[in-house]
Amino acid sequence: MEKVVIIGSGCAGLTAAIYAARSNLSPVVLTGIQPGGLLTTTSTVENYPGFPEGVEGYELMVRMQKQAERFGARMKLLQPLEAVDLSKRPFVLTVDGERMETETLIIATGASHRHLGFENERLLEKKGVTYCATCDGAWPMFRNQPLVVVGGGDSACEEASYLTRFGSQIFLIHRRDSLRASKIMAERVLAHPKITPVWDSVVTDILDPKLDKVTAVRIKNVKTGKETDLPCAGVFVAVGHVPNTQLFKGMLDMDENGYLKPARGTAMNIPGVFVAGDCADHVYRQAITAAGSGCSAAIDAERFLASVNV
Ligand code: NAP
Repeated sequence: MEKVVIIGSGCAGLTAAIYAARSNLSPVVLTGIQPGGLLTTTSTVENYPGFPEGVEGYELMVRMQKQAERFGARMKLLQPLEAVDLSKRPFVLTVDGERMETETLIIATGASHRHLGFENERLLEKKGVTYCATCDGAWPMFRNQPLVVVGGGDSACEEASYLTRFGSQIFLIHRRDSLRASKIMAERVLAHPKITPVWDSVVTDILDPKLDKVTAVRIKNVKTGKETDLPCAGVFVAVGHVPNTQLFKGMLDMDENGYLKPARGTAMNIPGVFVAGDCADHVYRQAITAAGSGCSAAIDAERFLASVNV
C-alpha cells in the first residue's frame, strides 16, 4: 500500500514528489508517456527563478527528477495509467495491468497541445504539421523553407523565434490583431526580420493535394472573409492546451473545459485526492506556478494523512 501516488512528472508532479519524499512518504511518481512533461519540449526557460542565464527545459526537469529521487521518490517510467477507482480509500489504480493501492493521490497530469481540429491537420501530422518546434524544427524538410506558426500566445512566439534558425521566413498567423504573448516575447517576435505576422487570420485548411507533405496553408481573413493560400513547408500549431483529465470525468469536479476544480486549496471533492499544475490551472500556467501548486498539494496530502492517522 502506497501513502502517496503522484500522477504526472512535470513541474507540479516532481515538486510534489520532492516535498512528499522529504516528508518520508516515499511517493511513487507515474511519469506518463512524457517524463518531465511539456517543459522538456521547450527551449530555454528564461523566467524560472534562480537561473539568471536561463535554463533548458529538459535540463530543468532532469534536475527536478534527480532532486526528488535523492529524497526517496520512486519513478515508474512510461507505464500507462489505465484505470482509477476513487470510490473509496485506499484508491485503486491500474498501471500497466498491475493493481496499485494508495491512501492519497496527487493529480498533476498537465495539459496537451490543442489541435486546430480539421482532417488534413491529422493526416499531415509528422509530414509537416507539428506541435513542437524544439522537437521537430531542425528536420531537413524545414530548412530554408517558409514556415507557418499558428497562434498568438507565448508558445507561438517562442516557436516562431526558434524557427528563425531554420526557416527562410516565418509567418505567424493569429486570429486577432494583437498578440496575447507577454510583452517581451511579443516585442522580440515583431522586431525579428524573418518573422511576418499575418493578423486577423485563421487557418482553414492545410494543403497538399496528395497528402504527402505540407505545401501551403489556406488562410481566411476574419475581417474581410477573403481566403488565400500561403505556400509553406511546415505548420507549427501553438494554439493553447487542453487539460489531461479525461480519466477522471464523472469522478472529480471539473469545469466545462475539463480543468479540475479543487474544493479547497489543492483538495478535490474526494478526500485524499489533491491536484496540482496545469490540469487545474487555465489562468497562470507557468512552470513556477505549477511547481508552487505541487508543493502545496504535497503539504496538503501530508496533513491529510496525519489527520487520518496514516
Ligand atoms: P495561450 O496563452 O492560451 O495562447 C493560445 C493562442 O492561440 C492565443 O493567441 C489564442 O488566440 C490562439 N488560439 C486558441 N485557439 C485557437 C484556434 N482554434 N485557432 C486559432 N488560434 C487559436 O497558450 P500558450 O501560448 O500555449 O501559453 C500557455 C501558457 O504557457 C501561458 O500562460 C503562457 O504564458 C505560458 N508560456 C510561457 C512561456 C514562457 O514564458 N517562456 C512559453 C510558452 C508558454 P487569442 O489570443 O485570440 O485567444
